[in-house]
Formats: sequence, C-alpha cells, structure tokens
Amino acid sequence: MHDLPRHELHHADGRRLLVYGGPSGFLDGEPAPDEAPTTHERLDVFTRAWVGIAPARNARPLDSVAETAEQCPFCPGGSEVPFPYPTPPQPPPLVGPTESARGKCEVVLYTHRHEASFGALSAIELCRVVAVWIDRARELWSDTARSYVCVFENPGSEVGATIAHPHGQIHALDRVPPIAAAKAAAHRRHRDQVGRCLSCDATLSDARSDRIVSENESFVVAVPFAARWPFEVAIRARRHGLKAPADEPDWHLAFELYPLHRASRTAKIRASVETGLGLFLNDVAPEEAARRLTRLTVPAEPIELDTLFVVARPEVAATP
Ligand SMILES: [Zn+2]
Ligand SMILES: [Zn+2]
Repeated sequence: MHDLPRHELHHADGRRLLVYGGPSGFLDGEPAPDEAPTTHERLDVFTRAWVGIAPARNARPLDSVAETAEQCPFCPGGSEVPFPYPTPPQPPPLVGPTESARGKCEVVLYTHRHEASFGALSAIELCRVVAVWIDRARELWSDTARSYVCVFENPGSEVGATIAHPHGQIHALDRVPPIAAAKAAAHRRHRDQVGRCLSCDATLSDARSDRIVSENESFVVAVPFAARWPFEVAIRARRHGLKAPADEPDWHLAFELYPLHRASRTAKIRASVETGLGLFLNDVAPEEAARRLTRLTVPAEPIELDTLFVVARPEVAATP
C-alpha cells in the first residue's frame, strides 16, 4: 500500500482543486462562498421530488467541438487550471416551493492522458482513482449536512458529457434522491416483512440466476431481474452495510451501469411512457443480455496488493 499525498489549492472563484500525488502548480485564488446564489431547488408538487435548477451548467466548459488536447479545459495547462467561472444569470421571480441548493459537485480527473478512458486506465491509475473516490466519499459522507453521496461517470457525448477528457463526478446531496429513497423504503419493507436484508437476498438471488455475468468473493456482477435498460449491469458487494444513508442499516455498496445502447451501434431512445410515466419497456430480456455480456472478452490488467494506494492527508498544524 503506497501513500498518495493530497494538496488543496483554491481557484479565485472559491472552487477547490484537490491535487492527489503532489502539487504540480499553484492557484492564487482565495476561498469564497460555497454556492452561486442563483443555484436552487424547486419542489415538483405532483411527484414530491426536488429538481435542481443550475443555470451555470449551461456555461460550463465545452470541448466537444474541440477534440484536441491543446483545447481541452481539463488537460494540463488547459483553461480549467485556472478557469474564470462565469456569473450565472439571475433566475426569474419564483412562484412555488423553493429551497436554496446546498449540495456539492466535485469533478475527479482520472489521468493526464486526454485520449484515455476509464476502461483504458492502467492498474496503477485505476487504483489511484479508487483511492481518491474513497477519500472524497469518506469526507463527504462524514458531513452531517449531506444526506447522500454518489460517485458517477457519464462517458461520451451520447449521455451528455461535454468534455472528452476522462473524468467523473461526485454529487453530495442535502436530500436522499428519489430512487435512493425508494430503495431505502424497499429495504425497510423487506426487513419488516421477511426479517432479512433486501440487498443480501438480491445479491444471493443474482449469484444463483442465469442473469449472472461474473463473480468473485467480494462482488456479484449481474443484469438485474427487472433491468430497465437493455444492458444494465449491477455490481453488488456481498459485504453487508457499507456507505449507507443515515439510519439505513440494510445497504450494500453497488456500482450500477446504465448503458444507453440496445445493440452495438443502436441507442435506446426513451419512449413517451418511459419519460412521462416512468414505465420502462426493455427491448432485451435480462437473461439474454447476461448471456451476450458473458461472451465478451474483457482484457484486464491484474491488480496486485502492492498496486493499492491510501490517501495521505497533509498534517494539520496544532493550534497554539
Ligand atoms: Zn484533455
Ligand atoms: Zn445485506
């Protein structure tokens, strides 16, 4: 296990830049208020779900038109390091239930290699990314103002990624989001009715089914029983109770993959009933999707114990 040193720099607009592995440059900004005041949440009174309104997102850096590393904002020397963040437009006068948005979004840059992707990371790069995820998730989950932390990646322009440089995001939310809330409610119901953990039962059921794609002593990889997307895959930890929302003892760490494709070159477009009613129609039977995924050969560099990293926090000077 190697130490991965962490350094904290600040952009002029207050955003933090955490550099893992040693500072390679400096920013001269001072910490500023947390959030742009125009970013807020609105309550949809019909579904009781909160919707984030973030006009600044439309001004986020784009490189989908500029495919070269020289023009990429995340590449070393790119505009994001440092980057003058635009002032979001004023929102219109609001009628209806609103709240200030107190969540946080962090961006994780995987590698300096512009042409790489998550799947093309070397074993060492991958282990460093996982160490960063663990460090960020631990810190964000430990903040009692946060109710839910989600690490995710939207690769490719098909799913709306506007920057080609390999990166992922972490959302730290002040409310449990609708799907996670429904999942938590299902776990509580299962515990009340059956007396066991729903994730334990589902993982066991995946492992014994013909929807299984792969497994080892720690994880079960399977197409879910009621998959909504043709090649949806869930990688569930066998270990019970990890990174759960507050007061939810029944929970498992899971990596959920939602590819948009229904065939190698055909994207699935949401039908009206899917968008309007939340009623999903899957074009591929989960058992057939698992059979096809099992046949794929995925080249993977083996990960040895001495490839792993643990983040080394800088020592905080004792207060006199
Ligand atoms: Zn780049
Ligand atoms: Zn469990």
